[in-house]
Amino acid sequence: MTSYPTNTQRTADIAIIGGGIIGMSCAYELARQSNLRIVLFDKQNPASGTTGGTGGLICLHDMGEIYASLTLKGYARIQELRRDHNFGYTPWGALSVFYTASRFPPAPTAYEKRFGHGEKSIYQHELLETSELLRRYPWIKPEGVQGGAIYPNQGFIDPYELVELYERLAIETGRVQVHHNTPVLQIRNEGDQIKTLVTRRGAWQVGKVLNAGGPWGAKIAALAGSELALTPQRIQVCVATAFDDGLESAPLTSVPASVNDEGVWCRGELGGTLLFGQHHHTTKEGYTVDPDYVNRVNDPDYPQAVEAVHRRFWHLPKSVFLNGWCCVYGTTEDGFPIISRDTHLQNFYHTVGMNGHGMTCHAGVAQATAALMLHDRTTIDMSDVMGKPAELDFSVLNAGRFVEGKLLNFELL
Ligand SMILES: Cc1cc2nc3c(=O)[nH]c(=O)nc-3n(C[C@H](O)[C@H](O)[C@H](O)COP(=O)(O)OP(=O)(O)OC[C@H]3O[C@@H](n4cnc5c(N)ncnc54)[C@H](O)[C@@H]3O)c2cc1C
Repeated sequence: MTSYPTNTQRTADIAIIGGGIIGMSCAYELARQSNLRIVLFDKQNPASGTTGGTGGLICLHDMGEIYASLTLKGYARIQELRRDHNFGYTPWGALSVFYTASRFPPAPTAYEKRFGHGEKSIYQHELLETSELLRRYPWIKPEGVQGGAIYPNQGFIDPYELVELYERLAIETGRVQVHHNTPVLQIRNEGDQIKTLVTRRGAWQVGKVLNAGGPWGAKIAALAGSELALTPQRIQVCVATAFDDGLESAPLTSVPASVNDEGVWCRGELGGTLLFGQHHHTTKEGYTVDPDYVNRVNDPDYPQAVEAVHRRFWHLPKSVFLNGWCCVYGTTEDGFPIISRDTHLQNFYHTVGMNGHGMTCHAGVAQATAALMLHDRTTIDMSDVMGKPAELDFSVLNAGRFVEGKLLNFELL
């Protein structure tokens, strides 16, 4: 039987609420950069929130400097975990197919020029003439195809394996405790400080508190009497039985059409199925849900709508399109995360609003959180992934930007 700390033992320098990829990678980062005692609570099991339903893609996010920088950090971390801990990564690549209206071969983008260096880069790619593209990816219909580009270093991870690895590495420091099935139920403040977290298993006296509650972020902030401009939005994933058509692996790719006005990405899954995920980048009307009461089943017509669109571009005659699952994004109005001290409480921090990008960006996000919580800094060093002295200033990700009208955009300045 697990033994729980007694009244006098329930203290921590830092308490983390939420054990998804963000909370757990922050626990690891904070522990390896300090000697502080850290406790993490998850109300269910780690990765049981958004993280467990993710597409798990480690892919390009050419959506401005912040996302491009966080992508480099995440990609580098996955390669490091593969090397040092035999972590699983499936580099099936990402494929861009160029149709009639687009220019082929494409000119190098500003992102490639600035962020992509060398063969191991996530930007590394090979251009494919139409005949070679159709030979390698025979389910793609030839009509209108001009050529393609395959990015072989992009791929996907198993989110449960990643969170479990961070949990193990954090605990191995000897300074981190992780409590599963332990919701934080109440937050008690004195003046502008949080003093106590009341959990299902007792009260903890805490120094600093990190809200890493993903789509529950605003609910957690509300426990402390704070407001957070974070909106939970329902996202659907459906599945096609591509093994019925002999397909065993497929890169991340998409078709030049939307489903019900939504973008859809597709990637192969281990076992020869295809996953199709709905996505949008900023808070959108009609998708807001309570993450505790979300309908986990697809809308009845969603798999058929995905099927109808994809059959126009792909030849998969035997594949059956099925209900997958639904998950919840923690979205923000401008599509960027919040990595910030609370606007009122001095020892309360938020790392939420990862939208559809938290798996790729987690390592940079965790480094930024550690810089803020340990050193009161709003920059992180980028020289390890840029190959030259460089910094990322993330002060613009502050929680106050929404009321101040300082929303961010996806332009590369
Ligand atoms: C369908 C889908 C596909 C995606 N695909 C990709 C992708 O391919 N690549 C990519 O980079 N990103 C992707 N994302 C985004 C990525 O999965 C998320 O950004 C990331 O998982 C968010 O992690 P998190 O730790 O912030 O949140 P969560 O994983 O939701 O973690 C929050 C945790 O907080 C806990 N919690 C909540 N309230 C309390 C409380 N009161 N007390 C204690 N614990 C509490 C919950 O139990 C939960 O475990 C996708 C998302 C979805 C929905």
